[in-house]
Amino acid sequence: MKTAIFPGSFDPFTIGHASIVERGLPLFDQIVIGVGINESKRSLYSIGERVEAIRALYAGEPRIRVVSYDDLTIDLARREGAQFILRGLRSVKDFEYERDIANMNERLAGIETVLLFTEPQYASISSSVVRELIAFGKDVTDFLPHRPQP
Ligand code: ADP
Repeated sequence: MKTAIFPGSFDPFTIGHASIVERGLPLFDQIVIGVGINESKRSLYSIGERVEAIRALYAGEPRIRVVSYDDLTIDLARREGAQFILRGLRSVKDFEYERDIANMNERLAGIETVLLFTEPQYASISSSVVRELIAFGKDVTDFLPHRPQP
């Protein structure tokens, strides 16, 4: 069983994140979305709210699970039996950071990182920009994924 962890803060989970998950599904049997608890980052939504929102979004998709974690992504991967880490790459700004973490995760745990380039229409969407818009009372529905209506 090929399992990937998709780790992140997801504060909030945007259409950019959703696009990476959807494009990752054909590559793996299972994707575990890991919502990281990072005490040093000030968050807008609580961990519980983030996990619930993402779970509701993928309620109809048995190949996607959502968990929270407060240790290293490689430790989560070990617990979940995952061999891969899935990440999205928006720009050269993301690149060096992702390369360093990927190298370290491979070295420490033999876990491969699979990077997907962001689709161009999502390249400028980040949780931090969405948080800022929310803080100033702007409508962000266009940037948040919505469950397809049955
Ligand atoms: P982190 O705090 O770990 O960077 P984020 O929630 O910001 O967590 O992002 C999680 C993952 O989703 C990262 O790999 C990030 O590059 C990717 N990502 C974020 N925004 C987008 C986007 N608009 N398009 C594609 N990937 C994205």
